[in-house]
Amino acid sequence: MPRFHVPLPLSPGARLELPAGAARHVQVLRLQPGASITLFNGEGGEWTASVARMTRSAVEVTLQAHDAVEREAPRAVHLAVALMAAERLDWLIEKATELGAAGFIPLLAERSSLRLTGERAARKLAHWRAVAVAACEQSGRNRVPDVAEPVALPDWLAAGLPHTGPCWMLALDAPSQPLAEAAAAWPADAPLTLLSGPEGGFSPQEAAAARAAGCTPVSLGARVLRAETAPLAALATALLR
Ligand code: SAM
Repeated sequence: MPRFHVPLPLSPGARLELPAGAARHVQVLRLQPGASITLFNGEGGEWTASVARMTRSAVEVTLQAHDAVEREAPRAVHLAVALMAAERLDWLIEKATELGAAGFIPLLAERSSLRLTGERAARKLAHWRAVAVAACEQSGRNRVPDVAEPVALPDWLAAGLPHTGPCWMLALDAPSQPLAEAAAAWPADAPLTLLSGPEGGFSPQEAAAARAAGCTPVSLGARVLRAETAPLAALATALLR
């Protein structure tokens, strides 16, 4: 059944007009009045609903029952990823959302190829958040992972690691420990942060600062993985244990 994210208050029996994006999606799918759909607003669970009325641009729906179902990963894993080529970060956010990532922190690193300022940065952030929403609509997640405002790596480290649990810096060069070893020491109820570098890697100064801030260098093996592959591989391995 088609799923739509509707960031509005939802209640049984309510009749509401879908936001423009969701309405367009209903029309693209050529749904007709009477069609059954699923809505979720990110506050938990999902709602069965049906299309009540359609005009050229508007779609009205009637909500039916709420189901408190969640399809979240068993543990919270946050991805703190250095900005990389835009299409690669889109891909990473989509796939990591499907895999259950709890949130994304885009970081500006010395060797980040993508530089964002002002209006362009705001548009990019809105786009990434829409990518995460679309991945939730597709995958069945009812909680949309947050995509934070991009922050410079030194500022992020200086603010103190955002979560109580471990932070693994995905590191190609020694000294680093195999992921399986780091995973064995990951406390069961602690959130995990994965810190990964841009296409050109972290500078030695950045890597030293991350280690000093408490990030543990973790290796994913001898092969050089792309900036979007490494965090996804670590996420999948950490979550599917
Ligand atoms: N020439 C860069 C270097 O030597 O760091 C390659 C960077 S790689 C394309 C992008 C990021 O992916 C790295 O900064 C690291 O965070 C992560 N990465 C890639 N391969 C990895 C591996 N085998 N183990 C751990 N992290 C890896």
